[in-house]
Amino acid sequence: MIKHDFHLHSYFSTDSEEKQENIIEEALERGFSGICFTDHMDLYFPLECSKKSGGDFNFDADEYYDCIMKLKHKYRNIIKIYLGMEIGLRDEEDLKDKCVKEYNELIAKYPFDFIIGSTHCLENIDPYWEEYWDGRTAEEGLRRYYDAIDKNVSDYDCFDSLGHLDYLVRYVSEGAALRSFQAGQPCKKTAEGGMPDFSEKRFYGKYMYDPKDYMDYTDSIMKKLIDKGRALEINTAGLKYGLGFAHPKLELLKRYRELGGELITIGSDAHRAEHLAYDFDKASELLINLGYRYYFIYNNRKPEGNLL
Ligand SMILES: [Zn+2]
Ligand SMILES: [Zn+2]
Repeated sequence: MIKHDFHLHSYFSTDSEEKQENIIEEALERGFSGICFTDHMDLYFPLECSKKSGGDFNFDADEYYDCIMKLKHKYRNIIKIYLGMEIGLRDEEDLKDKCVKEYNELIAKYPFDFIIGSTHCLENIDPYWEEYWDGRTAEEGLRRYYDAIDKNVSDYDCFDSLGHLDYLVRYVSEGAALRSFQAGQPCKKTAEGGMPDFSEKRFYGKYMYDPKDYMDYTDSIMKKLIDKGRALEINTAGLKYGLGFAHPKLELLKRYRELGGELITIGSDAHRAEHLAYDFDKASELLINLGYRYYFIYNNRKPEGNLL
């Protein structure tokens, strides 16, 4: 049974207004053993995207550290609170070295338990925004994204678990989906087998995505994670958004195991207390069915296995 949530956002993240205490109370109600706050730290977040998002996805590290330490102390006999963060990995040539250096400095300065490495931005844009998809098919946009992750996994050694591997499928734009459809590319149909509903701004997974089409990249990414002793995250936000699958999709979790992957971390990516541990029972069942026996939490950057 899963008793930890290791991907959570509070008001220290640009896209959350939640108080940590509310999240902790929710975890207590569920009888959880521990939770890890993983607020966003996206160094060099693109300026234009910051304007649109209402913030730059950076927190004040001293303030954050003080806050989590106080909570750790306040709840010390009730639930274990872990200090984590979700860092944004950048593959742009002019940013990569600066990011590696600055993330390492930050990590050396505070006693983090756990670091999620996520690719949120590339080509100086957050592909959440439609401009990224301009002139691209869905497949082109997704392949370019996987290519960035693949490079990031090679170039960054400062994270413990790779966040939400295939989450970009949520943000495929209307135009990109239409271009794919017109080009007759393999994932051109909806899950129901018909024409996608192009009246919707975001497809949130209704746009059919087949992990097989990207296996050259995902195999490379997962092999590198395994070689480097890094974990792969199962992120249940996909279920929350109604995609019908967690990130990454089942086929990828199966493949990771075939390749010898064992280190799996679990997070809901909740930005509100009510979404803590979203559909963890489904995630647990799925992992057990795939032959996994443990999920991992990180304490002082070291993995600790817990029975599923
Ligand atoms: Zn993320
Ligand atoms: Zn997140």
